[in-house]
Amino acid sequence: MTEEPFVILRAQILSVGTELLIGQTLDTNAHFLAQQLTELGISTYRHSLVGDNEKRLEEDMKRALQDNDLVITTGGLGPTEDDVTAEVACGIFNKKLIPMDEVTPYPAVPEGAIIFQNDNGSAPGSLILAPFEGSMKALLLLPGPPDEMEPMFSNYVKDELARHTPYSFIHRYVRLYGIGESQAERMAHDLITFQDEVTIAPYASPTEVIFRVSQRIANGEDKTEPVVQALLSLFGEHVFEVGKRPLEQVVLDGLLRRGLKVAFAESLTGGLAASTLASVPGASEVLAGGFITYNDAMKQRLLGVSPKLLSEYGAVSEEVARAMAEGCRLKTGADIAVSFTGIAGPTGGSEKTPVGTVWIGMAEKDKDTQSFVYHFTGLRNRIRLRAVYHGLNLIRKRIESR
Ligand code: AMP
Ligand code: MG
Repeated sequence: MTEEPFVILRAQILSVGTELLIGQTLDTNAHFLAQQLTELGISTYRHSLVGDNEKRLEEDMKRALQDNDLVITTGGLGPTEDDVTAEVACGIFNKKLIPMDEVTPYPAVPEGAIIFQNDNGSAPGSLILAPFEGSMKALLLLPGPPDEMEPMFSNYVKDELARHTPYSFIHRYVRLYGIGESQAERMAHDLITFQDEVTIAPYASPTEVIFRVSQRIANGEDKTEPVVQALLSLFGEHVFEVGKRPLEQVVLDGLLRRGLKVAFAESLTGGLAASTLASVPGASEVLAGGFITYNDAMKQRLLGVSPKLLSEYGAVSEEVARAMAEGCRLKTGADIAVSFTGIAGPTGGSEKTPVGTVWIGMAEKDKDTQSFVYHFTGLRNRIRLRAVYHGLNLIRKRIESR
Protein backbone atom coordinates (compact mmCIF):
# COMPACT_ATOMS: atom_id res chain seq x y z
CA MET A 1 0.00 0.00 0.00
CA THR A 2 1.44 3.36 -0.97
CA GLU A 3 0.66 6.41 1.06
CA GLU A 4 -0.92 9.43 -0.61
CA PRO A 5 1.69 12.16 -0.72
CA PHE A 6 0.86 15.16 1.45
CA VAL A 7 0.06 18.09 -0.82
CA ILE A 8 0.39 21.71 0.28
CA LEU A 9 -2.02 24.08 -1.45
CA ARG A 10 -2.66 26.91 0.96
CA ALA A 11 -0.46 28.57 3.49
CA GLN A 12 -0.40 31.18 6.22
CA ILE A 13 2.61 33.16 7.32
CA LEU A 14 2.58 33.87 11.04
CA SER A 15 5.23 36.30 12.23
CA VAL A 16 6.06 36.17 15.91
CA GLY A 17 7.57 39.06 17.86
CA THR A 18 6.41 41.94 19.99
CA GLU A 19 8.87 44.24 18.21
CA LEU A 20 6.88 43.67 14.99
CA LEU A 21 3.57 44.30 16.71
CA ILE A 22 4.56 47.66 18.09
CA GLY A 23 6.11 48.92 14.87
CA GLN A 24 9.72 48.76 15.96
CA THR A 25 10.68 46.26 13.26
CA LEU A 26 9.19 45.90 9.79
CA ASP A 27 7.94 42.40 8.97
CA THR A 28 10.24 41.73 6.04
CA ASN A 29 10.10 37.97 6.66
CA ALA A 30 6.47 37.78 5.56
CA HIS A 31 7.34 39.77 2.45
CA PHE A 32 10.19 37.40 1.57
CA LEU A 33 8.29 34.21 2.36
CA ALA A 34 5.21 35.27 0.41
CA GLN A 35 7.35 35.73 -2.68
CA GLN A 36 8.98 32.36 -2.14
CA LEU A 37 5.64 30.59 -1.72
CA THR A 38 4.40 32.18 -4.92
CA GLU A 39 7.43 30.81 -6.73
CA LEU A 40 6.66 27.39 -5.33
CA GLY A 41 3.06 27.58 -6.49
CA ILE A 42 1.65 27.58 -2.95
CA SER A 43 -1.17 30.07 -2.37
CA THR A 44 -0.73 32.33 0.63
CA TYR A 45 -4.15 32.91 2.16
CA ARG A 46 -3.16 35.03 5.14
CA HIS A 47 -0.34 36.95 6.75
CA SER A 48 -0.66 37.49 10.45
CA LEU A 49 1.38 38.74 13.33
CA VAL A 50 1.43 38.03 17.03
CA GLY A 51 3.57 39.21 19.94
CA ASP A 52 5.77 37.08 22.19
CA ASN A 53 2.82 35.79 24.18
CA GLU A 54 2.32 32.08 24.68
CA LYS A 55 -1.45 32.06 24.90
CA ARG A 56 -2.13 34.30 21.92
CA LEU A 57 0.52 32.53 19.85
CA GLU A 58 -1.13 29.19 20.60
CA GLU A 59 -4.55 30.50 19.60
CA ASP A 60 -3.23 31.97 16.36
CA MET A 61 -1.18 28.90 15.51
CA LYS A 62 -4.15 26.59 16.00
CA ARG A 63 -6.43 28.77 13.92
CA ALA A 64 -3.82 29.01 11.18
CA LEU A 65 -3.41 25.21 11.17
CA GLN A 66 -7.17 24.72 10.97
CA ASP A 67 -7.41 26.95 7.89
CA ASN A 68 -4.28 25.94 5.98
CA ASP A 69 -2.07 23.04 4.91
CA LEU A 70 1.10 24.89 5.79
CA VAL A 71 1.83 27.43 8.50
CA ILE A 72 5.18 29.18 8.55
CA THR A 73 6.28 31.00 11.67
CA THR A 74 9.34 33.19 12.00
CA GLY A 75 10.79 34.40 15.27
CA GLY A 76 10.74 33.27 18.86
CA LEU A 77 13.19 30.40 18.41
CA GLY A 78 15.99 31.86 20.51
CA PRO A 79 17.15 30.86 23.98
CA THR A 80 15.52 33.70 25.90
CA GLU A 81 12.41 33.64 28.09
CA ASP A 82 10.22 35.32 25.48
CA ASP A 83 11.13 32.80 22.75
CA VAL A 84 8.24 30.37 22.96
CA THR A 85 7.42 29.37 19.38
CA ALA A 86 8.92 25.86 19.51
CA GLU A 87 7.34 25.14 22.93
CA VAL A 88 3.92 26.22 21.72
CA ALA A 89 4.26 24.16 18.52
CA CYS A 90 5.27 21.09 20.52
CA GLY A 91 2.31 21.61 22.82
CA ILE A 92 -0.11 21.69 19.92
CA PHE A 93 1.29 18.56 18.26
CA ASN A 94 1.89 16.81 21.53
CA LYS A 95 5.59 16.41 20.86
CA LYS A 96 8.62 16.70 23.08
CA LEU A 97 11.17 19.45 22.68
CA ILE A 98 14.49 17.67 22.52
CA PRO A 99 18.01 19.07 22.66
CA MET A 100 19.89 18.82 19.37
CA ASP A 101 23.04 18.01 21.23
CA GLU A 102 23.22 16.17 24.53
CA VAL A 103 26.14 18.26 25.74
CA THR A 104 24.53 21.66 25.35
CA PRO A 105 20.87 21.69 26.33
CA TYR A 106 20.17 24.32 23.68
CA PRO A 107 19.06 24.60 20.91
CA ALA A 108 16.10 22.30 21.30
CA VAL A 109 13.96 21.10 18.40
CA PRO A 110 10.59 19.34 18.15
CA GLU A 111 11.01 15.56 18.16
CA GLY A 112 10.52 13.89 14.80
CA ALA A 113 10.79 17.17 12.90
CA ILE A 114 12.89 17.74 9.81
CA ILE A 115 15.72 20.01 10.94
CA PHE A 116 17.28 22.79 8.86
CA GLN A 117 20.73 23.91 9.87
CA ASN A 118 21.36 27.59 10.54
CA ASP A 119 24.54 28.70 8.76
CA ASN A 120 24.33 32.22 10.12
CA GLY A 121 23.16 31.82 13.70
CA SER A 122 22.33 29.29 16.37
CA ALA A 123 18.63 28.42 16.23
CA PRO A 124 17.89 25.74 13.61
CA GLY A 125 14.65 25.67 11.66
CA SER A 126 12.26 22.75 11.80
CA LEU A 127 9.38 21.30 9.86
CA ILE A 128 6.74 19.30 11.68
CA LEU A 129 4.64 17.09 9.41
CA ALA A 130 1.92 15.61 11.57
CA PRO A 131 -1.83 15.30 11.92
CA PHE A 132 -3.69 18.11 13.62
CA GLU A 133 -7.39 17.74 14.43
CA GLY A 134 -7.62 14.80 12.08
CA SER A 135 -5.81 16.05 9.01
CA MET A 136 -2.22 16.24 7.93
CA LYS A 137 -0.52 19.59 8.43
CA ALA A 138 2.89 21.15 7.95
CA LEU A 139 4.21 23.58 10.52
CA LEU A 140 7.47 25.24 9.60
CA LEU A 141 9.37 27.10 12.33
CA LEU A 142 12.04 29.51 11.14
CA PRO A 143 14.34 31.89 12.99
CA GLY A 144 13.46 35.58 13.12
CA PRO A 145 16.59 37.38 11.92
CA PRO A 146 16.22 37.83 8.14
CA ASP A 147 19.91 37.16 7.49
CA GLU A 148 19.48 33.74 9.11
CA MET A 149 16.01 32.93 7.83
CA GLU A 150 16.43 33.89 4.16
CA PRO A 151 19.50 31.76 3.37
CA MET A 152 18.07 28.87 5.39
CA PHE A 153 14.89 29.00 3.33
CA SER A 154 16.68 29.32 -0.02
CA ASN A 155 19.33 26.69 0.69
CA TYR A 156 17.43 24.04 2.59
CA VAL A 157 13.72 24.63 3.12
CA LYS A 158 12.60 25.39 -0.41
CA ASP A 159 13.53 21.98 -1.82
CA GLU A 160 11.79 20.27 1.06
CA LEU A 161 8.56 22.21 0.50
CA ALA A 162 8.77 21.61 -3.25
CA ARG A 163 8.28 17.89 -2.57
CA HIS A 164 4.79 18.70 -1.35
CA THR A 165 3.61 21.09 -4.04
CA PRO A 166 1.15 19.79 -6.60
CA TYR A 167 2.49 21.61 -9.62
CA SER A 168 5.74 23.00 -10.70
CA PHE A 169 5.89 26.55 -11.98
CA ILE A 170 8.13 28.46 -14.29
CA HIS A 171 8.50 32.11 -13.35
CA ARG A 172 10.41 34.52 -15.54
CA TYR A 173 10.97 38.20 -14.88
CA VAL A 174 11.15 40.88 -17.54
CA ARG A 175 12.48 44.03 -15.90
CA LEU A 176 12.12 47.53 -17.28
CA TYR A 177 13.37 50.96 -16.41
CA GLY A 178 12.44 54.38 -17.71
CA ILE A 179 8.75 53.70 -18.19
CA GLY A 180 5.91 54.19 -15.71
CA GLU A 181 3.84 51.29 -14.46
CA SER A 182 0.56 52.52 -15.87
CA GLN A 183 2.07 53.19 -19.28
CA ALA A 184 3.73 49.77 -19.24
CA GLU A 185 0.44 48.11 -18.33
CA ARG A 186 -1.39 50.00 -21.05
CA MET A 187 1.18 48.92 -23.62
CA ALA A 188 0.99 45.30 -22.51
CA HIS A 189 -2.79 45.33 -22.19
CA ASP A 190 -3.52 43.00 -25.10
CA LEU A 191 -0.84 40.55 -24.03
CA ILE A 192 -2.18 40.54 -20.47
CA THR A 193 -5.81 40.22 -21.51
CA PHE A 194 -5.34 37.39 -23.95
CA GLN A 195 -3.11 35.35 -21.73
CA ASP A 196 -4.07 31.77 -21.43
CA GLU A 197 -1.77 29.18 -19.92
CA VAL A 198 0.94 31.73 -19.36
CA THR A 199 0.06 34.55 -17.00
CA ILE A 200 1.61 38.00 -17.00
CA ALA A 201 1.60 40.03 -13.80
CA PRO A 202 3.07 43.52 -13.72
CA TYR A 203 4.34 45.18 -10.59
CA ALA A 204 6.34 48.27 -9.90
CA SER A 205 8.72 49.76 -7.38
CA PRO A 206 10.50 53.12 -7.52
CA THR A 207 13.46 51.38 -9.12
CA GLU A 208 11.82 49.25 -11.81
CA VAL A 209 8.71 47.81 -13.43
CA ILE A 210 8.65 44.03 -13.54
CA PHE A 211 6.48 41.72 -15.60
CA ARG A 212 6.34 38.28 -14.04
CA VAL A 213 5.63 35.67 -16.68
CA SER A 214 4.39 32.46 -15.07
CA GLN A 215 3.27 29.10 -16.24
CA ARG A 216 2.05 26.06 -14.41
CA ILE A 217 3.76 23.08 -15.94
CA ALA A 218 1.34 20.33 -16.78
CA ASN A 219 2.99 18.30 -19.52
CA GLY A 220 6.48 19.69 -19.31
CA GLU A 221 6.22 22.12 -22.18
CA ASP A 222 7.60 25.59 -21.50
CA LYS A 223 5.43 28.17 -23.25
CA THR A 224 6.86 31.29 -21.64
CA GLU A 225 9.43 32.09 -24.32
CA PRO A 226 7.03 33.61 -26.93
CA VAL A 227 5.49 35.77 -24.20
CA VAL A 228 8.91 36.97 -23.03
CA GLN A 229 9.80 37.70 -26.66
CA ALA A 230 6.58 39.66 -27.12
CA LEU A 231 7.41 41.79 -24.06
CA LEU A 232 10.93 42.33 -25.36
CA SER A 233 9.73 43.62 -28.69
CA LEU A 234 7.08 45.75 -26.99
CA PHE A 235 9.45 47.45 -24.57
CA GLY A 236 12.72 47.41 -26.50
CA GLU A 237 15.54 49.27 -24.82
CA HIS A 238 13.53 49.78 -21.65
CA VAL A 239 14.19 46.14 -20.83
CA PHE A 240 17.37 45.85 -18.81
CA GLU A 241 17.04 42.25 -17.68
CA VAL A 242 15.21 39.00 -18.25
CA GLY A 243 15.98 37.28 -14.98
CA LYS A 244 16.81 38.12 -11.43
CA ARG A 245 19.36 40.91 -11.60
CA PRO A 246 18.45 44.40 -10.40
CA LEU A 247 19.61 47.39 -12.44
CA GLU A 248 22.73 48.02 -10.35
CA GLN A 249 23.86 44.44 -10.97
CA VAL A 250 23.22 44.72 -14.71
CA VAL A 251 25.24 47.94 -14.81
CA LEU A 252 28.07 46.41 -12.85
CA ASP A 253 28.17 43.33 -15.07
CA GLY A 254 28.10 45.50 -18.18
CA LEU A 255 30.99 47.66 -16.99
CA LEU A 256 32.93 44.59 -15.94
CA ARG A 257 32.49 42.87 -19.28
CA ARG A 258 33.82 45.92 -21.10
CA GLY A 259 36.58 46.64 -18.61
CA LEU A 260 35.21 50.11 -17.80
CA LYS A 261 35.52 52.14 -14.62
CA VAL A 262 32.86 54.54 -13.41
CA ALA A 263 32.88 57.44 -10.91
CA PHE A 264 30.20 59.68 -9.45
CA ALA A 265 29.96 63.34 -8.53
CA GLU A 266 26.99 63.63 -6.25
CA SER A 267 25.12 66.59 -4.90
CA LEU A 268 21.48 65.80 -4.03
CA THR A 269 22.12 62.04 -3.98
CA GLY A 270 24.78 62.46 -1.28
CA GLY A 271 26.70 59.29 -2.10
CA LEU A 272 23.68 57.11 -2.85
CA ALA A 273 24.78 56.38 -6.42
CA ALA A 274 28.22 55.13 -5.35
CA SER A 275 26.65 53.26 -2.45
CA THR A 276 24.08 51.54 -4.67
CA LEU A 277 26.74 50.27 -7.02
CA ALA A 278 29.00 49.36 -4.10
CA SER A 279 26.23 47.18 -2.67
CA VAL A 280 26.81 44.71 -5.51
CA PRO A 281 29.63 42.20 -4.95
CA GLY A 282 32.52 42.89 -7.29
CA ALA A 283 32.04 46.67 -7.29
CA SER A 284 35.73 47.25 -6.66
CA GLU A 285 36.41 46.13 -10.23
CA VAL A 286 34.30 48.88 -11.77
CA LEU A 287 33.76 51.66 -9.24
CA ALA A 288 36.69 54.08 -9.25
CA GLY A 289 35.23 56.35 -6.60
CA GLY A 290 33.22 59.47 -6.18
CA PHE A 291 32.71 62.86 -4.61
CA ILE A 292 29.97 64.15 -2.39
CA THR A 293 29.92 67.83 -3.25
CA TYR A 294 26.93 69.24 -1.53
CA ASN A 295 27.77 72.91 -1.42
CA ASP A 296 29.23 75.21 -4.04
CA ALA A 297 32.61 75.45 -2.33
CA MET A 298 33.10 71.70 -2.56
CA LYS A 299 31.97 71.63 -6.17
CA GLN A 300 34.70 74.15 -6.88
CA ARG A 301 37.40 72.64 -4.70
CA LEU A 302 36.96 68.93 -5.44
CA LEU A 303 35.62 69.00 -8.97
CA GLY A 304 37.01 72.26 -10.29
CA VAL A 305 33.60 73.69 -11.19
CA SER A 306 34.19 77.37 -11.92
CA PRO A 307 32.65 79.95 -9.57
CA LYS A 308 31.44 81.79 -12.64
CA LEU A 309 29.30 78.83 -13.77
CA LEU A 310 27.86 78.44 -10.29
CA SER A 311 26.93 82.10 -9.93
CA GLU A 312 25.72 82.49 -13.48
CA TYR A 313 23.59 79.34 -13.83
CA GLY A 314 23.12 78.11 -10.27
CA ALA A 315 24.18 74.73 -8.85
CA VAL A 316 21.14 72.97 -10.33
CA SER A 317 21.77 73.59 -13.98
CA GLU A 318 22.86 71.89 -17.12
CA GLU A 319 26.17 73.73 -17.12
CA VAL A 320 27.09 72.73 -13.57
CA ALA A 321 25.99 69.12 -14.10
CA ARG A 322 28.31 68.89 -17.08
CA ALA A 323 31.19 70.59 -15.29
CA MET A 324 30.76 68.25 -12.30
CA ALA A 325 30.86 65.17 -14.51
CA GLU A 326 33.89 66.40 -16.45
CA GLY A 327 35.74 67.37 -13.27
CA CYS A 328 34.95 64.00 -11.73
CA ARG A 329 36.27 62.15 -14.75
CA LEU A 330 39.49 64.13 -14.85
CA LYS A 331 40.13 63.70 -11.11
CA THR A 332 39.41 59.97 -11.05
CA GLY A 333 40.56 58.89 -14.49
CA ALA A 334 37.36 56.83 -14.80
CA ASP A 335 36.03 55.94 -18.25
CA ILE A 336 32.57 57.24 -17.40
CA ALA A 337 31.69 59.88 -14.80
CA VAL A 338 28.12 60.66 -13.84
CA SER A 339 27.00 63.71 -11.87
CA PHE A 340 23.79 64.46 -10.01
CA THR A 341 22.58 67.91 -9.06
CA GLY A 342 18.99 68.72 -8.19
CA ILE A 343 16.37 69.86 -5.70
CA ALA A 344 15.25 66.98 -3.47
CA GLY A 345 12.93 69.20 -1.44
CA PRO A 346 10.71 69.69 0.39
CA THR A 347 12.11 73.26 0.39
CA GLY A 348 14.55 74.97 -1.92
CA GLY A 349 12.46 74.92 -5.08
CA SER A 350 11.77 77.95 -7.22
CA GLU A 351 9.54 78.71 -10.17
CA LYS A 352 12.41 78.16 -12.57
CA THR A 353 13.79 75.13 -10.73
CA PRO A 354 10.98 73.41 -8.83
CA VAL A 355 11.44 70.61 -6.29
CA GLY A 356 12.13 67.40 -8.17
CA THR A 357 14.30 69.00 -10.87
CA VAL A 358 17.40 66.88 -11.39
CA TRP A 359 20.23 67.36 -13.84
CA ILE A 360 22.41 64.37 -14.61
CA GLY A 361 25.68 64.85 -16.46
CA MET A 362 27.67 62.11 -18.13
CA ALA A 363 31.28 62.61 -19.18
CA GLU A 364 33.13 60.00 -21.12
CA LYS A 365 36.65 59.70 -22.43
CA ASP A 366 36.93 60.96 -26.03
CA LYS A 367 33.21 61.67 -26.23
CA ASP A 368 31.02 64.74 -25.89
CA THR A 369 29.66 65.27 -22.42
CA GLN A 370 25.93 64.68 -22.21
CA SER A 371 23.31 66.09 -19.89
CA PHE A 372 19.75 65.15 -19.04
CA VAL A 373 17.06 66.89 -17.05
CA TYR A 374 14.25 65.19 -15.16
CA HIS A 375 11.30 66.37 -13.13
CA PHE A 376 10.59 63.78 -10.49
CA THR A 377 7.56 63.81 -8.24
CA GLY A 378 7.21 62.54 -4.72
CA LEU A 379 9.00 62.99 -1.45
CA ARG A 380 12.65 63.82 -0.89
CA ASN A 381 14.13 60.34 -0.70
CA ARG A 382 12.09 59.03 -3.58
CA ILE A 383 13.43 61.86 -5.72
CA ARG A 384 16.99 61.01 -4.66
CA LEU A 385 16.43 57.31 -5.39
CA ARG A 386 14.89 58.01 -8.78
CA ALA A 387 17.85 60.21 -9.65
CA VAL A 388 20.28 57.41 -8.84
CA TYR A 389 18.44 54.79 -10.88
CA HIS A 390 18.04 57.15 -13.82
CA GLY A 391 21.79 57.67 -13.66
CA LEU A 392 22.41 53.93 -13.58
CA ASN A 393 20.04 53.44 -16.49
CA LEU A 394 21.90 56.08 -18.51
CA ILE A 395 25.13 54.19 -17.88
CA ARG A 396 23.47 50.95 -18.94
CA LYS A 397 22.18 52.42 -22.20
CA ARG A 398 25.52 54.04 -22.86
CA ILE A 399 27.51 50.86 -22.43
CA GLU A 400 24.99 48.75 -24.35
CA SER A 401 25.35 51.09 -27.33
CA ARG A 402 29.14 50.92 -27.34
P1 AMP B 1 13.77 36.26 17.43
O1 AMP B 1 14.18 35.06 16.68
O2 AMP B 1 12.33 36.32 17.71
O3 AMP B 1 14.58 36.47 18.68
O4 AMP B 1 14.05 37.50 16.51
C1 AMP B 1 15.33 38.05 16.45
C2 AMP B 1 15.32 39.31 15.62
O5 AMP B 1 14.95 39.04 14.29
C3 AMP B 1 14.31 40.37 16.05
O6 AMP B 1 14.80 41.19 17.05
C4 AMP B 1 14.09 41.14 14.78
O7 AMP B 1 15.07 42.14 14.65
C5 AMP B 1 14.27 40.12 13.71
N1 AMP B 1 12.97 39.66 13.23
C6 AMP B 1 12.14 38.79 13.83
N2 AMP B 1 11.03 38.59 13.11
C7 AMP B 1 11.15 39.36 12.01
C8 AMP B 1 10.32 39.59 10.87
N3 AMP B 1 9.13 38.98 10.72
N4 AMP B 1 10.76 40.46 9.93
C9 AMP B 1 11.96 41.07 10.09
N5 AMP B 1 12.77 40.89 11.12
C10 AMP B 1 12.39 40.05 12.08
MG1 MG C 1 11.60 37.54 19.26
